[in-house]
Amino acid sequence: MDTNTVICPGSFDPVTLGHIDIIKRATKMFDKVIVAVLVNMSKTPSFTIDERIAFLEEALSDVDNIEIVGFSGLLADYAKERGAKAVVKGLRAMSDFEYEFQMALTNKKLNPDLDTVFLTSDSQYMYLSSSMVKQVASLGGDISFFVPACIHAKVYERLKNNSNQKGK
Ligand code: ADP
Repeated sequence: MDTNTVICPGSFDPVTLGHIDIIKRATKMFDKVIVAVLVNMSKTPSFTIDERIAFLEEALSDVDNIEIVGFSGLLADYAKERGAKAVVKGLRAMSDFEYEFQMALTNKKLNPDLDTVFLTSDSQYMYLSSSMVKQVASLGGDISFFVPACIHAKVYERLKNNSNQKGK
């Protein structure tokens, strides 16, 4: 029988509880979830690709049907290469919708076999983004509500140090 494999792409700079919620829900719906971490981002990331992958691995260590990989190039091609049937994305608010709709249609054009599945954000994570986590931590705020408990101290230390260096 065919394995239902899907891809959850993102920059995960750093991973938040909002990402984890979407990824874990996807693992319950599909046989296998590939978490594809963007290597080349338009903005310079705060965390290296290895750090972003390590945080995801730690936060998702209790999940079996998952693979976490660095990824560059076209998602539509990568999905074909990996035999993935769909991209799974989280939708926070109407503000996400227009961009995500455009991406979904572009991917479908490039790879007609590839669908995009949207999961609505859990209401408690509707407002949460990686950039918000970075902003709060750089100002010395508590990010324990926003990132998985097992990586919270490491993420905070790195972000705090970053902002100290910038201030020097
Ligand atoms: P961000 O937008 O936080 O920088 P990414 O680019 O890494 O995050 O996002 C990867 C995917 O995770 C996208 O589909 C995005 O919509 C989804 N996502 C991000 N934050 C949340 C959240 N708080 N709730 C649900 N989905 C989210």
